[in-house]
Amino acid sequence: MNEQQQVERLSVDEVWNKRPLIISGPCSAETEEQVLETALRLQATGKVHALRAGIWKPRTRPGSFEGVGTKGLPWLQMARKLTGLPTAVEVATAKQVEDALHFDVDILWIGARTTVNPFSVQEVADALRGVKVPVLIKNPINPDLELWTGAVERVAKAGIEQIGLIHRGFSSYGNTEYRNAPMWHLAIEMKRRNQNLPMICDPSHICGRRDILQAVSQRSIDLDYDGLMIESHITPDQAWSDAKQQITPERLNEMLSQIQWRTEMIDAPEASVLDKLREQINHIDDELLQLLAQRMKIADQIGVYKRDHNVTILQTNRWNEILEKGFQKGKQLGLSQEFINKYFDAVHMESIQHQNKIMNS
Ligand code: PEP
Ligand code: MN
Repeated sequence: MNEQQQVERLSVDEVWNKRPLIISGPCSAETEEQVLETALRLQATGKVHALRAGIWKPRTRPGSFEGVGTKGLPWLQMARKLTGLPTAVEVATAKQVEDALHFDVDILWIGARTTVNPFSVQEVADALRGVKVPVLIKNPINPDLELWTGAVERVAKAGIEQIGLIHRGFSSYGNTEYRNAPMWHLAIEMKRRNQNLPMICDPSHICGRRDILQAVSQRSIDLDYDGLMIESHITPDQAWSDAKQQITPERLNEMLSQIQWRTEMIDAPEASVLDKLREQINHIDDELLQLLAQRMKIADQIGVYKRDHNVTILQTNRWNEILEKGFQKGKQLGLSQEFINKYFDAVHMESIQHQNKIMNS
């Protein structure tokens, strides 16, 4: 029996050119059954073009599940045989590149924790010399477009022609709505600088939770992204890594049906320039509001402290210090003193209101 005849097989190049390009699969390959069942259920949606699975997992802290390693690669090979879906794996070292290619992985990606390190990126790039394989490069964990660009340049210099970008958000200290702050304006700027490279959104690692995946995916599509990489699992809550953000293939199917797919308007170039600038403003405004909300949460904590120690909300010296610093900084940044005054007044009054609620609750 020739399994190749059972399923529609797109070449990797055909898949690479799909728009929107949809890549899905578990955060980590865990067992052969899990990989195969995920692949079959994703294929059944008819909406997924490639199967992702982490084989080697870079973990922030030691002791968590670090991936099954090379023994998982034949599972992916089998999944591809059964479903026709090209496979995608994260690589961080020359040995991982070698193993992935040995087991016919179709698409490689460089993870956010690797993009930050030029030594590692160079090692991966050197291992790719003379190979024809598409490579997706995730943004570095820190908001630094030069590092992201450097990784693209290193991989391109190694002779890789099919390079794509994945926006997975940026680490920030403290709790926010997101696991990794999207900082959309950075991805928009990276897209602008690399108009020939596809930009794919990874809402799973931006969100870190299921309930806002669809909204973030929609946002990226509204920003003319070229595709989505979304983590899926047959039993998400039992996943060995990133359980909170994974969804079943069926939920993915539903989500993809609900997304409004957009086309880029191309016949009115002037309007589209304006639209793009406005989009950037909208996203910066959105981020400013997120930051302000974060600031108020800290003010709340200060309110709790003040209540417990019975001190006044208003501390005039502290307030003068904030204003003085603001004026100086504003001047350096080209913002008028009048604006700084109004801005800090508004922020301060909101903080006081927040603390008032806490102190008198
Ligand atoms: C992943 O895709 O599972 C992963 C580890 O992502 P990132 O590099 O974005 O953290
Ligand atoms: Mn993950």
